Amino acid sequence: MARWSMVIDLEKCVACQGCSIACRFENNTPVVSQELALEERAMRWNDVFPMPHGEVGEFPNTKTHYMTRPCMHCENPPCIKVCPVQATYIDDEGLVRQNYARCIGCRFCTVACPYGVRYFNWYAPQFDPDLAQHLNPDRVEGKGVLEGPSVRPKGVVEKCTYCVHRLQKAHAQAEAEGREFRPDEYMPACVQTCTGKARFFGDLDDPNSTVSKLAKSKRAFRLLEDVGTQPKTIYLQEGE
Ligand code: SF4
Ligand code: SF4
Repeated sequence: MARWSMVIDLEKCVACQGCSIACRFENNTPVVSQELALEERAMRWNDVFPMPHGEVGEFPNTKTHYMTRPCMHCENPPCIKVCPVQATYIDDEGLVRQNYARCIGCRFCTVACPYGVRYFNWYAPQFDPDLAQHLNPDRVEGKGVLEGPSVRPKGVVEKCTYCVHRLQKAHAQAEAEGREFRPDEYMPACVQTCTGKARFFGDLDDPNSTVSKLAKSKRAFRLLEDVGTQPKTIYLQEGE
């Protein structure tokens, strides 16, 4: 079994937000109104944060770095430990998953996650009719666009899945063709779309994979390493 990991090179990230938009369209995450966004009701499975750098001056005399953030898919995830109904779990390939049918919406996981990557559905997802034509059919089940477990109902918590449906599809394709699944058949949408080629994805247990080599780089670090969550989303700091 693979142990999937994402490496994000902050030197290459151009903060274009392409990863966030690809994630939204790939996973049919709803867009909320400006008023609701100001109330922190927006779904942002992937986010890009501006971070003022050095002395904070006034525009244009400012410097900003950008930090991009999906789920860390921790090896020791606190979100799982606090779930009273086992709605969130880690699967055989290291992906931290959410069973929406089991979730009771208590939001303990949202509080326990030190990275703020979990979002609660305060409302049933709604899509503008024009946008609904562009929903990803791989994340929609049943006849109506809002039916089925892939589109999250009101009252459950959701987050980045490392686009697990793409992994499931690749496994099914290999099985249908009677052959072994190849790791290069699985790539999350944000990695595929990244303009600056800053995101890498693969098997951390394969010593020849790009991610396992980059994870050993002296530029590699994990967010909040000291809290012991052991993220499998790994960053490369800027510089040589
Ligand atoms: Fe859980 Fe948060 Fe770690 Fe993701 S980043 S696995 S939601 S603790
Ligand atoms: Fe979104 Fe998939 Fe990237 Fe996670 S891996 S941030 S779900 S596009």
